[in-house]
Amino acid sequence: MSAPITIIGAGLGGLTLARVLHVHGIPATVYEAEPSPTARTQGGMLDIHEHNGQPALAAAGLLEQFRDLVLEGREATRVLAPDGTVLLDEPDDGTGTRPEVQRGDLRRLLLDSLPEGTVRWGHKVTGVRAVEPGRHEVSFADGSTVRTGLLVGADGAWSRVRSLLSEATPEYVGTTFVETYLFDADTRHPAAAKAVGDGALLAPVPGKSIQAHRESGGTLHAYVALAAPQEWFAEIDLPDPAAATERIAREFHGWAPELTALITDSDTTPALRPLFALPIEHRWQRVAGVTLLGDAAHLSPPNGEGANLALFDAAELGRALAEHPEDRETALGAYEQALFTRSAAEALEAAADFQRCFGENTPDSLLDLLTGAGRTA
Ligand SMILES: Cc1cc2nc3c(=O)[nH]c(=O)nc-3n(C[C@H](O)[C@H](O)[C@H](O)COP(=O)(O)OP(=O)(O)OC[C@H]3O[C@@H](n4cnc5c(N)ncnc54)[C@H](O)[C@@H]3O)c2cc1C
Repeated sequence: MSAPITIIGAGLGGLTLARVLHVHGIPATVYEAEPSPTARTQGGMLDIHEHNGQPALAAAGLLEQFRDLVLEGREATRVLAPDGTVLLDEPDDGTGTRPEVQRGDLRRLLLDSLPEGTVRWGHKVTGVRAVEPGRHEVSFADGSTVRTGLLVGADGAWSRVRSLLSEATPEYVGTTFVETYLFDADTRHPAAAKAVGDGALLAPVPGKSIQAHRESGGTLHAYVALAAPQEWFAEIDLPDPAAATERIAREFHGWAPELTALITDSDTTPALRPLFALPIEHRWQRVAGVTLLGDAAHLSPPNGEGANLALFDAAELGRALAEHPEDRETALGAYEQALFTRSAAEALEAAADFQRCFGENTPDSLLDLLTGAGRTA
């Protein structure tokens, strides 16, 4: 049982699996396409849930360290109408159960918890193939290869490993997020900072929304959602940030300036984040020696669960492998049966949440989702 497990992808899922295996004394190697841990900013706030993300971090033995990363007050939520009218204003009174952390901080915690050399940076997988029953060969962009008796695809939405198990490919869900950042906002962008408040802001109408979160250091991180074909976004002149933000802001003509400032005052070139999803019932027949976790297995429209599910999948897979040290196939079979049931339910929920946030009944459906009681103000 000493042959290292091969994990593709050093996102939250792959790193959590490596850590949980390490806790159980099972060696693993993680191959990651990015050249270094700091190659890409790991933006975004994540709320880590009591029923999936937090138990996973407990399984990784990192719950206490995680708590040190939590940004106080960030569970506050505001919902605004396009004219700036406040529809919901829920302060963070300290009783919330969804502590917020910066994704980069959580990833760093996981990385630092692994033995030196566990992650091989700059290893972009270009191909995978079966070499004999239960054994697979992974090819990397630099021409190198590894062979393994247990391959785990934690390589996200566009997983290469997935091709060993399934022909499914993610489909565009019809909405793209435009990502912007406003730095030092209380001083430099006070109206937008006030609109966002201490935590999250959502200002939706059917098919479009301005959403933002207050990160550490007075940074406002916004996702502007627009339902439009990918071709529409392809015509935006992204290399010219002023033209690009002006084009996006035109879709929000007449909205309150403190909201549109989250587009027009961006301190970064706006980035397009088209949203994709795998089929809701995505599953596969058991193939010896390989499995998937996280987005590679069940990519869904974002509803605040994706990272939590990746953490949970990883903890569950690590637990199953630790429980069956002599029989990895039994471990993978048990893991996948539970994964398929859980993922189908979560994917349905994600699709429904997406409708509640951006569909024809928003903002009422969003307010129902947030309060369980409909419009409260
Ligand atoms: C705009 C947006 C906002 C979101 N907000 C939230 C949120 O608030 N809360 C939440 O819980 N979830 C959120 N999600 C979802 C969440 O980001 C994902 O579900 C989560 O990151 C999945 O983790 P993962 O480890 O499976 O995959 P990833 O985080 O995608 O990690 C995959 C890793 O594999 C690497 N990789 C990919 N291809 C290769 C290759 N060929 N070779 C080697 N390495 C490779 C990548 O570089 C990456 O490091 C959001 C998603 C989006 C798009």
